[in-house]
Parts: sequence; C-alpha cells; structure tokens
Amino acid sequence: MSDIVLEVKDLSKAFEMPRSLFDALRGQPTRKLVGVDQVSFKIERHETLGLVGESGCGKTTLGRCILRLQQPTGGSILFEGQDITRASERDLQPVRRRMQVVFQDPYSSLNPRMTVRQMIVEALRFHKICSRAEEDAYLERLLKTVGLNIDAADKFPRAFSGGQRQRIGLARALAVQPAFLVADEPVSALDVSIQAQVLNLLTDLRDEFGLTMLFIAHELSIVRHVSTRVAVMYLGQIVETGTTDEVFENAQHPYTEGLLRALPRPEPKRRDRKIALEGDIPSPMNVPKGCRFHTRCPIAQEICRTKTPPLRQLSPTHHVLCHLRPTPDWNPAILA
Ligand code: SF4
Repeated sequence: MSDIVLEVKDLSKAFEMPRSLFDALRGQPTRKLVGVDQVSFKIERHETLGLVGESGCGKTTLGRCILRLQQPTGGSILFEGQDITRASERDLQPVRRRMQVVFQDPYSSLNPRMTVRQMIVEALRFHKICSRAEEDAYLERLLKTVGLNIDAADKFPRAFSGGQRQRIGLARALAVQPAFLVADEPVSALDVSIQAQVLNLLTDLRDEFGLTMLFIAHELSIVRHVSTRVAVMYLGQIVETGTTDEVFENAQHPYTEGLLRALPRPEPKRRDRKIALEGDIPSPMNVPKGCRFHTRCPIAQEICRTKTPPLRQLSPTHHVLCHLRPTPDWNPAILA
C-alpha cells in the first residue's frame, strides 16, 4: 500500500487586487489575480516531486499554501492523512515540525540579529526536540551534518557566504527532524560554482534522513538532478506530470517541450534553434480563455482558443493537459 505524505486536491489561491479610486467610482468589480488554480497531486514517502515553470507561474504560491504560510481560497491539503487546509495555528504546531522549508534567498531567510546557535536552539526548544543538557552535542552533530564546523555556532549570518547561509538554513530545517521538506528554489540565488555543492548536500541529506521533498525550481536541468517525478506548471495550473524519465525523454506538452529546448546543449553549434517559448507569460490578472498556453503555443488550433483542454493520461504516472497531445498515433505500447 502506498504511503502518501502529501495530497493536494483542487487547490486554488486567488488574490483580490485593490481597486483604484477611478475603478471604484466607475463601479468596476475587484479584480482577481490567479496564483494557483485547481491543482491536484500526491507525493509518496521518500519521493521528490520537482515543480518547475517560469517565474510567476504560481510555484512559490503553491509551496506557501502547502506550508500554510498563505491561506488557500479553495481545495484541500492533506498532510500524513490530516486535513490541514483550515487547521488553526495551534493544531498546525506539530505539523510545522514535520513539514519544513528551505527558502530561495539565504540572505533574508535568516534572522540577522541571532547567532546560528540561537536560531537552532530556539527551534529545538519550541518543538521540544532534546533536553537542554543535550543541546550542545546536538548542535555540533547537526552543523557537521551540513558541512559546517562548531565554530560557526556563535557567529551571525553576515559572517557567512551565500552557500554557507544555505547550509545553515538546511541545518535549521533539519534540526526539528521533519518528514517533509519544501525546497523553494534553494540554489537559484547562489553562484553557479556553489550550486552543485548545495544540491549534492541536499540530496545526500534527503537520502540519509529519508525525507520526502517538494523541490521548486525554474530550471529543468536542476529539477532533473534531484527529482523522482516532475510537475510542470504554467499560469497556475499543472500542465504535465510524469516520472523524471517520462518528462525528460517523452515530454508531450508544448510548454514542457519549450522548456526542454531552451536547455543548454553540450554542443552549442547543434543547439536546436526552434525555441518554442516565445513571448511573455500572460498576466495572471488576465488569464487567456481556452488553453492558457495558446498565446505562446506553436501548434495551437482554434479549439485551443475556446475550450479548456482535457487532462489526458499516457501512463499510470504520465498526464498532460492538452487538446492535441498525445497525437492520435500515440502508442502506449512503447512504454512497455
Ligand atoms: Fe497548445 Fe492547444 Fe495543447 Fe494548449 S491545448 S498546449 S494551445 S496544443
């Protein structure tokens, strides 16, 4: 029997935008910005789901709703079988220990007025992880686990480089022994030379501690390195999901294909010049009718401009939201 850690059902988050005085006087209704729109998925224990898409597609909003840092406007979130969609802060307290986050920006995610020791001990005490007598030894082991020396404990965040700060963020998240980690673009603010080190550390720790993970990134190449499954997001919706191999070797959605074509190739001369991702992502305050991707899709037909696309299943794990994919000659036997 599968052990589902996280189940998200029809999750939505819309933001009401304040009206200008002019709009209010003209009696215009309040406008809504679509953050996340009826997203559903499950993550099994020890799985890593990579969530990928361009900036502004709703990935971070989805992550923040799952963590209940933002209140969803529709749908539900089940964490380890418990419906936490509308749980009170008090009921969320034990959940927050099991569910931790590493943020994108290691510079602003650490309190500049607290030393590393103060930050971690605060979390240990709040969640009653160990006795006070055990704190020093616990802290030393934890810092060693993320590749830092105990000398780091009494320094403030400003004393560290970006990569070291992200290691401290990881130590703080792991200190409370979570089961599930949301990693929200954890390396995108770091120098390229440091990114691989932090990613390797993250995957090593995930495996060592048996973590389940939602890994959010805008670069497919990074997601491939980390994920067992991939979900591709566009304008608040998931448009394709599959195992990492299915998405990278047999992408079906034209948006996924565009993201893949934009990846750097080892031989620049042979790089595919047909970059499908032309044009900007439309405003989430003015979502296109029909298929949301039709304004940028190189194979769009009339039906795409008027009708919402169906969710088609290609395999038990591979789904695509599209009118035209898979093509009629699609043969599921090739998956066998
Ligand atoms: Fe392109 Fe149409 Fe498929 Fe949307 S439904 S991705 S516009 S082919």
